[in-house]
Amino acid sequence: MTRLLIIGSGVAGLTAALEANERPEVSVTVVTKSAIDKSNTAWAQGGVAVVTDPADSVQSHIDDTLIAGAGLSSLESVTVLCAEGPAAIFDMVDDGVEFDRIDGEFAKGLEAAHSFSRILHGGGDATGAAIANGLIGAVREAGIEVLENTFVADLVLADGVVTGARLLDGSVLDADAVILATGGAGQVFPYTTNPSVATGDGIALALRAGAVGADLEFYQFHPTSMAFGHNPLISEAVRGEGGHLVDENGHRFMKDVHELAELAPRDIVARGIADQMRKQAGAPVRLDVRHLGAEFLAKRFPTIDRTVKAHGMDWAHEPVPVSPAAHYFMGGIRVDIDGRTSVPGLYAVGEVACNGLHGANRLASNSLLEGAVYGHRVVAAAVSDVQTGAVRAGNPVDEHWAAPTAIAAEAGTEQFVRADLQQLMWESVGLSRNETDLEAAAKTLATWHVPDVSDIKSAEDANLLTVARAMVQSALWRRESRGAHWRSDAQPSDDVSPTHSTVVVA
Ligand SMILES: Cc1cc2nc3c(=O)[nH]c(=O)nc-3n(C[C@H](O)[C@H](O)[C@H](O)COP(=O)(O)OP(=O)(O)OC[C@H]3O[C@@H](n4cnc5c(N)ncnc54)[C@H](O)[C@@H]3O)c2cc1C
Repeated sequence: MTRLLIIGSGVAGLTAALEANERPEVSVTVVTKSAIDKSNTAWAQGGVAVVTDPADSVQSHIDDTLIAGAGLSSLESVTVLCAEGPAAIFDMVDDGVEFDRIDGEFAKGLEAAHSFSRILHGGGDATGAAIANGLIGAVREAGIEVLENTFVADLVLADGVVTGARLLDGSVLDADAVILATGGAGQVFPYTTNPSVATGDGIALALRAGAVGADLEFYQFHPTSMAFGHNPLISEAVRGEGGHLVDENGHRFMKDVHELAELAPRDIVARGIADQMRKQAGAPVRLDVRHLGAEFLAKRFPTIDRTVKAHGMDWAHEPVPVSPAAHYFMGGIRVDIDGRTSVPGLYAVGEVACNGLHGANRLASNSLLEGAVYGHRVVAAAVSDVQTGAVRAGNPVDEHWAAPTAIAAEAGTEQFVRADLQQLMWESVGLSRNETDLEAAAKTLATWHVPDVSDIKSAEDANLLTVARAMVQSALWRRESRGAHWRSDAQPSDDVSPTHSTVVVA
């Protein structure tokens, strides 16, 4: 019997669990640090990008993804995503995920930088909940073992091979292969659309185990989070349906920034908003959807509608204040096309992983699809590696991937304060970066440490610190502006064959 341990219960982890469960020779356990439905996945709104219309084409989806990736996306990873996407979505439907339909056909929306209306959605703007509920139902029905409220603190290695995971109380879960599906790291910033579980744990514990981090300078900031509360997201789809961004005088300023105005690539819209906010002394800009009408807004975007109203606003009659917030990590643990990390026995999938798919900037709605497509592949690879006795490392350095630079293991003496780290990261590694601020941030981060890792909070703090150091190191390494990595001291690069950054813990 091959024992698989899957850490994380988002779209990537649940898809992998269901795929593993199809194989009689595999026993699978899912471990998740909170409730099973606490994940970025459950909060996703807009939808899943996938080609299901004969008038659309896989090649068009590939092209749009490559353009968004600003020259850095891996063609192989993008091709796999777009070509295997439709089958993965039909698998989801078979597992009980319900997408919105019109006359029995998938309802499809348009989002920024997609050249076709190919975004499937569920529950209007509650696509993530629709996916999570469907997959959780299937996992429950299949009787797959799920350990909720179980925090994985570290990986266990024997002779350089991962053999399990250590929990906070020191107990060990043994496995023939461990699959990290731990999601993103939005909590590294003070303003984020991510839930509280997104503390970059998987990246940190994989780095500690000797894995390679990749493209960690690329963090996507969503242009439109509500500028109040815990920065709830207002999906791109709202602008796709015709929402306008206006300055304090009601002027559509994005028309002056980019020919696609509100539907320009995310990083351009986010920086356009940040620049406009600077011009108006930090006041948020506003999203004007009044022309869409109360009935349409409530029907098409029920979650956002409820959230806006819960904060005492009526977006059908007044523009909503919005500002950018940290949203999606393009970088992660470097994996090959099948999810193998550089550490034998360790695999990664979903937002925690980086196979080069998103390049320097993710195309909207490609990440749920990533979990669905690669969730199947990673299990196939892990099971095959274990069963053939060929457990192996998956990512040699080649001309597309730079040789790793190293960050020191934690060595500071100053007491770590999470809010200070988040503010430092926002100011130095946020929407706009420069050498001076990055150098200063690296020095400050090197002085901090988390003295006593004994509970979830302190373990998360230590992980956030490791991830922050790796991000700053990577941002310093990339001396060009590219995609979401905008350096005010460097022009957008015309290098058509850029390399991915990589980083390890010394
Ligand atoms: C508000 C919001 C809206 C979004 N909208 C869209 C959208 O419309 N379309 C789209 O494609 N993408 C969207 N995204 C991005 C997308 O939701 C995520 O990229 C994707 O869901 C990530 O899935 P995942 O399975 O990799 O990780 P997650 O869904 O984040 O799951 C990670 C899991 O790992 C667990 N975990 C983490 N650390 C540990 C640990 N130490 N021990 C045990 N368990 C751990 C977590 O508890 C969680 O269960 C959105 C994201 C947000 C935040």
